Amino acid sequence: MGSADYLLENLAGCRDHFAGAVFNGAFALPGDKPRYPRDRIANIKHVRLDITLDLDAKRISGGVSHTFSPLNDGLDHIELDAVDLTIGAVRNAAGRDLAHSLSGGRLRIELGEEMTGGREETVNVEFSGSPRRGLYFIGPEDAYPNKRIEAWTQGQDEDSRHWFPCYDYPNEMATSEIHVTVREPFTAIANGELRGVDTNPDGTKTYHFHQDHPHVTYLTSVCAGEFAELKDEWDGIPIQYYVPVGREADGQALFGNTPEMMRLFSDRSGIRYPYAKYSQVVVQDFIFGGMENVSATTVTDLVLYDERARIDADGDYLVAHEIAHQWFGDLLTCRDWSHGWLNEGFATFFELLWLEHKKGRDEFLYGIRGEMDNYLGEAGRYMRPIVSNVYHSPIDLFDRHLYEKGGLVLNMLRVLLGDDQFWKSIRRYAISRRGHNVVTQDLQRAIEEGTGRNLDWFFDQWVFGAGHPVLTGSYAWDDATKTAKISLKQTQSGERVAEVFRLPMNVDFKLEDGSTHSTKVEMTEREQAFYIPLPDKAKYVTVDTEVLKTLELERPTEMLVAQLGEDDAALGRVDATRALGKKGDKAAIEALGRAVREDAFWAVQAEAAKALGSIRSNAALDELLASTGVAHAKVRRAVFRALGEFREEQAADALLKVVDNGDESYYAEAWATAALGKTRDPRAFEALERSLSKDSQNEVIRASVFQGLGDLRDERGVNLAVEWSKYGRPAMVRGSAASALAKLGEFVPENRKEEIVDHLIPLIDDPWFRSSISAIDALEELKATKALPHLDRFAASGLDGRQVRSARLAAKAIRESGKSTDDVKKLREEMEKLTDENRTLKDRLDKIEAKLST
Ligand SMILES: [Zn+2]
Repeated sequence: MGSADYLLENLAGCRDHFAGAVFNGAFALPGDKPRYPRDRIANIKHVRLDITLDLDAKRISGGVSHTFSPLNDGLDHIELDAVDLTIGAVRNAAGRDLAHSLSGGRLRIELGEEMTGGREETVNVEFSGSPRRGLYFIGPEDAYPNKRIEAWTQGQDEDSRHWFPCYDYPNEMATSEIHVTVREPFTAIANGELRGVDTNPDGTKTYHFHQDHPHVTYLTSVCAGEFAELKDEWDGIPIQYYVPVGREADGQALFGNTPEMMRLFSDRSGIRYPYAKYSQVVVQDFIFGGMENVSATTVTDLVLYDERARIDADGDYLVAHEIAHQWFGDLLTCRDWSHGWLNEGFATFFELLWLEHKKGRDEFLYGIRGEMDNYLGEAGRYMRPIVSNVYHSPIDLFDRHLYEKGGLVLNMLRVLLGDDQFWKSIRRYAISRRGHNVVTQDLQRAIEEGTGRNLDWFFDQWVFGAGHPVLTGSYAWDDATKTAKISLKQTQSGERVAEVFRLPMNVDFKLEDGSTHSTKVEMTEREQAFYIPLPDKAKYVTVDTEVLKTLELERPTEMLVAQLGEDDAALGRVDATRALGKKGDKAAIEALGRAVREDAFWAVQAEAAKALGSIRSNAALDELLASTGVAHAKVRRAVFRALGEFREEQAADALLKVVDNGDESYYAEAWATAALGKTRDPRAFEALERSLSKDSQNEVIRASVFQGLGDLRDERGVNLAVEWSKYGRPAMVRGSAASALAKLGEFVPENRKEEIVDHLIPLIDDPWFRSSISAIDALEELKATKALPHLDRFAASGLDGRQVRSARLAAKAIRESGKSTDDVKKLREEMEKLTDENRTLKDRLDKIEAKLST
């Protein structure tokens, strides 16, 4: 699965929906137990669905047949999963009725005899229902009259059982065929080759799809609706893009790189794209970013960017992610969820490979840094081994450890083995395990067999162990011996976290004479110093940009300024901006200001702006104010965002100008809007309220209004946020409005806070899962004890694992918070006061320094 959270750029109040929002110190919650793979029931060879989708009545009906042979002699029954479905006749291949019973979501079918190995049987089950999960019918309703009529399925993790009786666990693979009937004018799309379309006497159409490569159940997919079909091909393989009618140009822009991605990934994996076709369908209200259903991917319409959004956004990462899954996830599938990183870590890593291929090394390394930042954000709340079988719902595992850390581990493997050995190993793994389930040991063995190298230590520390190296250190130069000294110390700790990570690292120097010098070191102790003889003094140094770690390396400002100005490697300059942001002195600020305006790479510019925002002195503000006209939209966005860190009138003046006059980029305008609220300028409220009239794709601007209102702390924001979080308002605004209520609730009188809580409680049961999660998160932030019974009830009965986890986390946090809320609030206010005082002191220092230097 691909996530849609990042494309929203945190604007809609979407925090990490997979992992909860508070520090809780542990991934597993009370009551979570180890879960082991399920025993297989038989060798299922083929699954055939004959179904009718009634998009008007929102109903499915039809039959499913499973063809199987026993794994052991004496098989006298099989069990399928079926939830909320009405079961009709159950018959074997000879047409004989079979006894069956349905209880606890399991359909037990008596075969009427004991089967022996080698024999084959087919059992057909008739069924019907209006599923609440797994199959989703979208259409116009009073609150949202403009929705198009559509239906789509989503099986992962274990939701296929809600729309057809099946063996719903990933450790079984079978070929499939889907015969699906819909009325005119709808089109149906499913896995595999389209072998024909029949027109029936009643005017309906039946589509016949055959998927000849075995796959797990959760990849079974059907979509139906009125779509424009765009045709493409790669190496003779037909490709289709299905988008809403009228959005063809945006669809081509979104999917246009598909053939090149298929070529690149075929080449890397050593297996030519294996299926008869590849289709991608854009649907409404999708509950993930994308889903890699075998040969028939489904993606959210949130990535169908219009022309203005394309100034600073593209959906390549998601398109590449799902294409990569066609190999890693579909052709080879994790045997059980605990090894899910073999799906998601690979897909994440391949997104970056695409970036490297298409946009070059700097973008790739900055992508790596982005994955690290995402993972480290989550690691601040909890750390778990990537392979872990203790969880409540499988979706709990689909977090930043599974995706980002998994992807980073693969990249570290590539660096460790070198390109040749790495790709040789990956191809060996892919080719030898294609069509099978996989566990992490399969990958380890492929590397060992292909290269002779044993990497147990690597997998132990990065995959079966938790955490990452936390390094502190210093740099020194001894002119007498012409030796650089790098002293490093590992300070990480935690359950299942390695005391000492074994860390091979690259160290790169730029010398005073302009030459470069690279060396490899390997850290094998908790504390270690490396002495590196150099022909000349180093101007600056970079300690490995690809190993997952945090590093605080003490260096003089001048080294960092030199690096920011001269390093050819963009990531070296990015790191310099981050370190200079912590220095915050005059030289640092000037260098950062120059970088915002003049650096050749947008990410360095944007990082420099962010660093200036974190310094928060008058001099830093001046540099930002001089940078509001930068050309790159992503940099302007960062400058506006950084201006929100200041309470000075000039910051608000600059932001007001953008809010009133607009910006060619939605995102830049949205960030200016959010930042204006953060300045707490008296003029902000009216300006934000005016911005509520602005339409934008995915509602990024209205969502930013509520982000701003939450930070503005103006009580008038409550009424607006209550109104805009109601059912019927745009989904992307509702979550942001709920988050604003959480922030405002802290600063309004007690009776208004009550009002907010009473408004949010019913939203726990909101039909749109993101709104529900936003409300749950808000109730948690408000420490609303009144919500506890509702959260507990929801945690016990909710159908979406993400909502359930949010509710469990919220209930736990509220119970633990007790009376500490007031103290926290006081502490926060105290902290803000101190930060302001600190800034004033810094400004004075800057002024004194300036006087001294003239
Ligand atoms: Zn995925």
